[in-house]
Amino acid sequence: MDSSKALQVVKLLQKEYPKAKYYLNFSSPLELLVAAMLSAQVRDDVVNAATPALFKKYRTAKDYASADLEGLTSCVSKISFAGNKARNIKASCNIIAERHNGKVPQTMEELEELPGIGRKTANAILINAFDKVVGIPCDTHVIRLSWRLGWTKNKNPDKIEKDLMNLFPKSQWKKLPHLLKDHGRAVCRAPVPSCSKCILNKLCPKQGVTKRL
Ligand code: SF4
Repeated sequence: MDSSKALQVVKLLQKEYPKAKYYLNFSSPLELLVAAMLSAQVRDDVVNAATPALFKKYRTAKDYASADLEGLTSCVSKISFAGNKARNIKASCNIIAERHNGKVPQTMEELEELPGIGRKTANAILINAFDKVVGIPCDTHVIRLSWRLGWTKNKNPDKIEKDLMNLFPKSQWKKLPHLLKDHGRAVCRAPVPSCSKCILNKLCPKQGVTKRL
């Protein structure tokens, strides 16, 4: 798909989902970092249900760093991979407390050095906590829809991100994942998309789609 057609797709999505946004609740960069780490392979509403109690109990990076791991894990026990995620949050906050003066770092390199934080999460933190747009967070919806829409021929998230960064002007990078998430949840679902109800039906090449509703 060429870039003018791709921009047409974004325009239609913007019209359809004018309220598309980042769905994790947070009131500080540290809260966002913790919520984003918890959100891997978990629905946003499940994370949002768990974080109020967590954020009340642990307020600073030092609080997480010195937390008893069992207590921290039990606070997020309804979230899948709770033990692993709690361990990574504790270890990351230890680094934040010791090397970054308790403040969440604001560069991709420093964020990616934290245990449990990959490029997708680092992008989400930079964009949503600091309004620093250096890339596009490629979550499962971005990956699936970019493929079906013919925006990429790659399966690797880092390569998909590069393809999207080449296809779209920077002004679209922040909004794009929010729009794709809303459309991916409502219509272009995995495993079977509802193409007959899709506003993009005429524009979309439906790459790799073998079954559709
Ligand atoms: S036409 Fe089908 S495959 Fe393409 S975006 Fe819409 S639902 Fe997804």
